[in-house]
Amino acid sequence: MPIGGHVSISGGYAQAAKRVANIGGDVLQMFSASPRGWNFPELSDEEREAFFQTREEKNIAYAYFHASYLINLADTGKTGEMSRRLMTRELGVASEVGVRGSVVHVGSFKDKKAEPELSTQKYEPVLEKLRDILANTPDDTMFIIENMGTRKIGVTLEEIGWIIHQIGDERLGVCLDTCHLHAGGYDITSEENLDEVLTEADKQFGLDRLECLHINDSRDEFESYRDRHENLGEGYIDTSAFTALLNDSRTKELPMILETPGFEGKGPDERNVEILRGLQ
Ligand SMILES: [Zn+2]
Repeated sequence: MPIGGHVSISGGYAQAAKRVANIGGDVLQMFSASPRGWNFPELSDEEREAFFQTREEKNIAYAYFHASYLINLADTGKTGEMSRRLMTRELGVASEVGVRGSVVHVGSFKDKKAEPELSTQKYEPVLEKLRDILANTPDDTMFIIENMGTRKIGVTLEEIGWIIHQIGDERLGVCLDTCHLHAGGYDITSEENLDEVLTEADKQFGLDRLECLHINDSRDEFESYRDRHENLGEGYIDTSAFTALLNDSRTKELPMILETPGFEGKGPDERNVEILRGLQ
């Protein structure tokens, strides 16, 4: 199964590809540019070539961007405009370097209700920007909505599905994060529980849109609406959840991306990769 992690882009995308290979992974997730501030990715021909070459040498099967945490498509002011511009640029670069798409935290409304009413009026700022970003970016890239664990857009599978249906574009995908599912009250800690969640996901947005998984344990309890990641086996998620994902025919072939803090505090590491592989 394809496994990897989110790694630093310090030194460039080629270095990031090496980092993921060094922890025994073949799935790369990285920021397109420094996530501290509104930084737009810029890439020279040399950097692009170095990335292609390293990716091939190291057998990196999948590569994704993770969008900046500053992105908020629900914002109607400057942040919203910067979000539109950055996502448009990022997906343009993704196409240039063969990155499949960006995994995105869509954003949040100012009034954070647990279950906001799904109305086109309320969601118009989000829908309008999504349509615009998709219309102005290459067809070979995906905008991948990540489920959230706190009171942000995308806590429920229903909300994600509703947004996708409003747009109806095949370039919209979904990334499910195990820590966020746990935080938002979706129990996947057995084959039966996972089946229930996948059945619901299929009903809401269609499992063919499920593009990748974020594999994280949680420092917080079930349905806590807190989403602090933990190393596998060290948190509140029973490892049966990961075992279930690794054995279900609907999820076992999906790219699995670790975003764990690491046993030495340096991000996803070999040990987390090995723990995951060991649960197969
Ligand atoms: Zn994320």
